[in-house]
Amino acid sequence: MVKKQDENKSMEAPAAPATGNSFHTRANLFDVVTAQLQRGIEAIKLDDDIAAILSQPKNELIIHFPVKLKSGHVRMFKGYRVQHSNTLGPFKGGIRYHQDVYLDECKALASWMTWKCALARLPYGGAKGGVKFNPSEYDAEDLERITRRFTHALGGNIGPEWDIPAPDMGTNSQTMDWMMDTYVNIMSHVDRQAVKRVVTGKSIVCGGSQGREQATGQGVVYCIQEWAHAKRFSLDGATLAVQGYGNVGSNTARILSRLGVTLTTVGDHTGYFKNPEGFNPHKLADHVKKKRGLAGYPGAKAISREEFFASEVDIFVPAALELQIGKDEAKEMTCKVVVEGANGPTDIEGEQALLAKGIDLVPDILANSGGVIVSYYEWLQNKRSESWELEEVQMRLERRMRRSYQAVADRARDLKTDMRTTCYAIALERLRDTYRARGIWP
Ligand code: NAD
Repeated sequence: MVKKQDENKSMEAPAAPATGNSFHTRANLFDVVTAQLQRGIEAIKLDDDIAAILSQPKNELIIHFPVKLKSGHVRMFKGYRVQHSNTLGPFKGGIRYHQDVYLDECKALASWMTWKCALARLPYGGAKGGVKFNPSEYDAEDLERITRRFTHALGGNIGPEWDIPAPDMGTNSQTMDWMMDTYVNIMSHVDRQAVKRVVTGKSIVCGGSQGREQATGQGVVYCIQEWAHAKRFSLDGATLAVQGYGNVGSNTARILSRLGVTLTTVGDHTGYFKNPEGFNPHKLADHVKKKRGLAGYPGAKAISREEFFASEVDIFVPAALELQIGKDEAKEMTCKVVVEGANGPTDIEGEQALLAKGIDLVPDILANSGGVIVSYYEWLQNKRSESWELEEVQMRLERRMRRSYQAVADRARDLKTDMRTTCYAIALERLRDTYRARGIWP
């Protein structure tokens, strides 16, 4: 039995409702993951001791660090790193730059990483971190200063066999290059080459892997293909809505367009838009890169957030923030499937409402696992001083994603439950078997 939620929660308040999230006030994200975990625990009747261990992160770090900005002013920043589990391997998880980052969010995201890595059979545990600020208010020079100072402040709390960060919302390969460079420079010079794999999601020239940039979107697409195959649904001619047009959202839409899927509705922090004829996903991505948002894209008709969720599409991919689909949004939705590109985009009531309406849901810890899978390949390549061709990375990713999807689909039939609970069941069984074999010392 998981400890009562209030005992496990931090005293830090959740963030204010996200911009544009007009339907409901955001719940505490750690409550959501705790409720999901509880269902997984019940599905496999997990031992109480192991359930108690896994219901809390191992380590929670909060760092206040000063940064001298290029203006000459010094500003204090608040950074987080939560390490949930390292039972299956080193802690692994992204670094988020966003003004709403808070401790319980990092705790939830860190535990999702544990389940995601266990489900994908990766030799990793789970972690997540972030810095509480709005990166769009800073230019590249200040972002570099913030990133380097945060990495220095993290110091030995990260490491290539201990805790391996990666990009997440508001961060990218450039952020990871700066983190890697800062970290190797605080190591002794003889160790510098060996520790470059302290972060993944680096640019290719800094030791990144081919295919990492698009890996999460590619993984989402493999899940959509598997779902479509099982449902005998033709993707050619299908319509798509995507919330969030950053790394995950834009790559998903671009890859799906090659399969004949049309992006008709899209939204981000600058607004929601529709084009019944279909957006060109490549031109849209170029526009977002230049203008830092969707607003102002030629031919896009602005719609409300409510209209966005009510839009008539076949496939809905949330790829922005967490807790975007509550019961109010679910009530409006008419799609056939929700495939969670983002982490935790659907709350407990939202999921129940979707399933009750017969809308399928492919959960985050399966759907967006492509990113951490290719991060693992990057880490392996760095460790072995290898550099794999794109085809090699794609072939491995595809095999692993399709195998995971099939394992979940088969097990869901046995357990007679939904896909999310099944994902938890599989992940928890793997952790349980390891705990049982190793024992709990002393
Ligand atoms: P990103 O920073 O590249 O893009 C985030 C998108 O969300 C942007 O389009 C932004 O405008 C939008 N957004 C922000 N606030 C919003 C709001 N209030 N309303 C609507 N849209 C808003 O981030 P990303 O890497 O694409 O990550 C998106 C999600 O996917 C996150 O939940 C992240 O944890 C998850 N994820 C990312 C990866 C990865 O490899 N990048 C892997 C797994 C999961």
